[in-house]
Amino acid sequence: MGPLSIRARLTLWYTGVVVAILLLVSVAAYSLLRWHMFNDLDASLFTVAGVLRDVPAADPAAPLPPDLEPLVREFLGPEFADALLQLLDPEGRVRSRALRPGLPLSREARINALRGAPTLETVDFAKGEQARLLTMPVVRGGRVVDLVQVAMPLRRTRQTLIRYVETLAVLVPLGAVLSAVGGWLLARRALRPVDRMSQSALRISAEDLSRRLERRGAEDEIDRLADTLNAMLARLQAAFGEMQRFTADAAHELRTPLTALRGGIEVALRAERSPDEYRRVLASSIEEVDQLIRLAEDLLLLSRSTVGLTATRQPVDLEPLCLEVLELGVRLAKGKGVTVSLGATAPAVVHGDAVALRRALLNLVDNAVKYTPAGGSVVISLDRTGEHVALVVEDTGIGIDSTDTRRIFEPFVRLDAGRSRDTGGSGLGLAIARSIVLAHGGTLEVESRPGGGSRFTIRLPGAPSPERSA
Ligand code: ADP
Repeated sequence: MGPLSIRARLTLWYTGVVVAILLLVSVAAYSLLRWHMFNDLDASLFTVAGVLRDVPAADPAAPLPPDLEPLVREFLGPEFADALLQLLDPEGRVRSRALRPGLPLSREARINALRGAPTLETVDFAKGEQARLLTMPVVRGGRVVDLVQVAMPLRRTRQTLIRYVETLAVLVPLGAVLSAVGGWLLARRALRPVDRMSQSALRISAEDLSRRLERRGAEDEIDRLADTLNAMLARLQAAFGEMQRFTADAAHELRTPLTALRGGIEVALRAERSPDEYRRVLASSIEEVDQLIRLAEDLLLLSRSTVGLTATRQPVDLEPLCLEVLELGVRLAKGKGVTVSLGATAPAVVHGDAVALRRALLNLVDNAVKYTPAGGSVVISLDRTGEHVALVVEDTGIGIDSTDTRRIFEPFVRLDAGRSRDTGGSGLGLAIARSIVLAHGGTLEVESRPGGGSRFTIRLPGAPSPERSA
């Protein structure tokens, strides 16, 4: 069986709580009723016994004085017919009894009576019948002269209590059933806004991400849920838009070299050419194809670094990595009149993908070389401060306008189209570098001034160094 629905669970909880309250109240009401009934009974017994005690004893052997009967009847009410009265001497011998006979005198009651104190007890007086019995001493001139006993069978009291319990036994289950029905209706009402929200969420499709869920303005849980879902929709919409833009840009980037390629071939085919001419066209075609391959590789790299590089995580020593990139940078700068060198370094290890990190650093060095005119310099350095490692690529190149420092990290953004064409960049270099760095939990920042050079910094969380972890 699967988990219960929220509605069923709410109903169960509600019913459970109501039944527990009903039971508690029933037990409390029963105890209170019982206490009151016994209290009333005891009070009546005291009143009747008091009246009998205070009657002047004209003839101790006589039965209950006839003029007392209406009085006793009044105190005991309809119970009078059941009442038992008995007069004893201090030794416990019966002097007189009224109505029905046969009340016992316990040892305890007698001892109490001789001390002048009354005793209340529940006694068996006939087969299976119990009664509440009060034994009260009659004190005259400082001496106990008689004992008055007044008793009342408990049959009626017990019957009333049993009837009360029977009533509860019917009412409590009925209350439980009613509360279950009420709970079910209540849960349905409480969950209706959620139902409505899921209905409107169903109507939002991928083509229609600008739609939002309605808020009711109550600032309650349902509104908070709508806010959360709306925020998620906004993020989805932004991501979707970005993806659409990216696809359009990528298609455009692919089409430009393909058009050039087609144009070249078309022109070559228009007339009979010499083998040399064909060779020239094929050579330039290869250039276009190379550019296409580079673009395809860059796109692949970008998609891989966006998906994440978690599968290939291992400790990467950054010092040798800087040396490798330095070597490649020196080769790139050859013949450009730009010097590439290594600045200060420090031992630093990070957790990650060595190939991807080399690619990120190389892209920065490649750009630095590309955008630095002859006579300039590029310096790669490595620094470790506390928990963080910083890879810095600094150049003395053309720099970047402060309004563009954000934009350059987006795919296919080239600041100076004319200049970029001959440098041959796809506009994906920084996007790839950034997404590799982000996948490593780091940041990529730039500080630059037009004409004043640029400084790109990759910050990564450092892995504990081997010396320290050993
Ligand atoms: P590209 O393939 O065009 O180099 P990138 O994504 O690597 O693409 O860089 C985007 C743009 O940022 C470049 O076209 C260039 O205008 C600018 N840029 C990047 N690095 C530098 C730098 N070191 N100095 C000046 N401009 C830079």
